[in-house]
Amino acid sequence: MTGHRRAEAAALLAAGGAVAFTGAGISQESGIPTFRDPGGIWDRFDPDEYGTWEGVARLAMERPDDLASFLAELRAAFAGAAPGPAHRSLVELERAGLLDAVITQNVDGLHQEAGSERVVEVHGSFSRTSCLACGHREAATRSEFLEGLDRAILGLRAAFVPSMASLLPRCSRCGGPARPDFVAFGEAPHDLAEAETLARGSRVLLVVGTHGEVFPAGALPDAAREAGATVIEVSRGDTHIGADLRLRGEAGRVLPPLVREALSGPRS
Ligand code: ZN
Repeated sequence: MTGHRRAEAAALLAAGGAVAFTGAGISQESGIPTFRDPGGIWDRFDPDEYGTWEGVARLAMERPDDLASFLAELRAAFAGAAPGPAHRSLVELERAGLLDAVITQNVDGLHQEAGSERVVEVHGSFSRTSCLACGHREAATRSEFLEGLDRAILGLRAAFVPSMASLLPRCSRCGGPARPDFVAFGEAPHDLAEAETLARGSRVLLVVGTHGEVFPAGALPDAAREAGATVIEVSRGDTHIGADLRLRGEAGRVLPPLVREALSGPRS
């Protein structure tokens, strides 16, 4: 990254009205392996089976040991994660009034854990449950999510699984079975209209750690640009994002000095 490009990006951010759009790269730096890469979870567990709600329900009945192995990997992936410098930089930018919201494709809740206030999670979140009976959504901490996984893994490894519902946490409103509120393969994204409105209404869309390959969320940078926003992209390599300004490097190394420069005020 050249200092000149960073100064240009910092000046754009310093003017306010930015929205961030984040993806797997920012979580990976925080200890969560990317699921889609070679050797990742979706390389070893067929997403048609393990990544859909129907598939998981079938596995629970027919191959509980395989599902338990998958959930144990998922647990390992999320247990060791913590917000990193990139998450914290976005919090600073929001607290300074220069960032209106974070739109994220990640389901790990790390933006909220870092302190971001307005987070739109288009692929849902493991930090919430959604009741299969009444639809009620409620917040769950990461430790509650991990405890839920532990219970499910224990249940699956027991001799007999009476039903999928027996493995799930209970809704506080109706007592029905509740599932983690992530968007599974083949399901519609959450809050996409809100994300589009935010992206199109932004002055600057700060795209961090995403290849822009997963649609429809991947279309947000183009939508923002068409609406007149400047798109700044922070990533380690080439992506499909149509950006006006590209800053190369790890988000955790690029964002802190960029945000510091933006917060130091307009330069003459
Ligand atoms: Zn309920």
